[in-house]
Amino acid sequence: MSVTETRINLLDLDQVRMRAFFESIGEKSFRAQQVLKWIYHQGVTDFDEMSNLSLELRQKLQRLAEIDPPKILKEQVSRDGTSKWLMGFGGGNAVETVFIPEPNRGTLCISSQVGCALNCTFCSTGAQGFSRNLSTGEIIGQVWLAARALGHERNGKRRITNVVLMGMGEPLLNFDAVVGALSLLRDDLGFGLAARRVTLSTAGLVPGIDRLRETIDVALAVSLHAPEDSLRETLVPLNRKYPIRELMRSCADYVSDKHKRSVTFEYTLIDGVNDHPEHARSLVKLLRRQPSKLNLIPFNPFPGTKYRCSPESRIRKFQEIVMAGGLIATVRKTRGEDIDAACGQLVGKVLDRTRRSERLREQMQRT
Ligand code: SAH
Repeated sequence: MSVTETRINLLDLDQVRMRAFFESIGEKSFRAQQVLKWIYHQGVTDFDEMSNLSLELRQKLQRLAEIDPPKILKEQVSRDGTSKWLMGFGGGNAVETVFIPEPNRGTLCISSQVGCALNCTFCSTGAQGFSRNLSTGEIIGQVWLAARALGHERNGKRRITNVVLMGMGEPLLNFDAVVGALSLLRDDLGFGLAARRVTLSTAGLVPGIDRLRETIDVALAVSLHAPEDSLRETLVPLNRKYPIRELMRSCADYVSDKHKRSVTFEYTLIDGVNDHPEHARSLVKLLRRQPSKLNLIPFNPFPGTKYRCSPESRIRKFQEIVMAGGLIATVRKTRGEDIDAACGQLVGKVLDRTRRSERLREQMQRT
């Protein structure tokens, strides 16, 4: 760990790494505990405010380290109370982070990458291409900033009770940085959230799910969107590499390891594409034996998309069929529509290194 030239951003360090950092600068490792509490419990970024550290140590930390969260570039609040922030990381990169308040919980939706490389055909993030992975500090920094912006507690109650990695990016393609952030979310010295309150959502990266199972205890959501391979391939191209059978095996292992916790399957309902009663019946067959919850998401349109949202009546019918088949299925309420904060509408600022957005624009001009 080089700490002499560039100052190390302490937001990049989970507890294990923070201890190693203090040892590497000749300090006792319990200092990690004190500093983590200052950062995540008190929201402090200035070493001078850390009153249980000696002046000497504070000066040393100022030389070697910093606590450098992303910057809030824009804040919007929806009529329904949903908040959305554009958070910048310098170099023209930014992501959107969304807070969804409900009567008994507050869910923060965070991003793991600037853009996304997976190119799912119904997702606006995919259409923007990919810029880069976020670091642990940039991922946990979104939670840290949102907690500060919201006022960490209201009436003695926490405002952020749940965190979902369902913003921009494929978290399992940025494994190490994401696990660092998950560990800070779970850690009592960090945000102290229970495993079921931290959810990682993946498009179905099988080796990543297997590795996650062995690494840390969090809830898993899988973006399924189709009950069979040929249709799923047209929506989630990653399915060509990891077809449904392998994905189901990996999910079954995940659940059996995590004390019978269930996997949440996300299914975005797209008009005339995957919303037929036959799809619902196939889905029942596929998921019947798997401890699971089904989250039906009405498709959210974005500029340039060829897809439309299924009509309300078909969404209800779909839900009826899967529930009659014994699945637990909820329809996700669309929140923050007036500020484009709904699923698949997050854009941020992506310096597209894949030229995908350029190619799409060219394509659209030709048609
Ligand atoms: N890469 C991860 C996490 C990001 S997407 C994943 O694929 O799970 C978070 C959820 O929003 C996914 O279930 C995704 O399929 C869904 N989603 C993406 N675009 C959408 C859109 N336009 N309308 C509704 N849901 C969408």
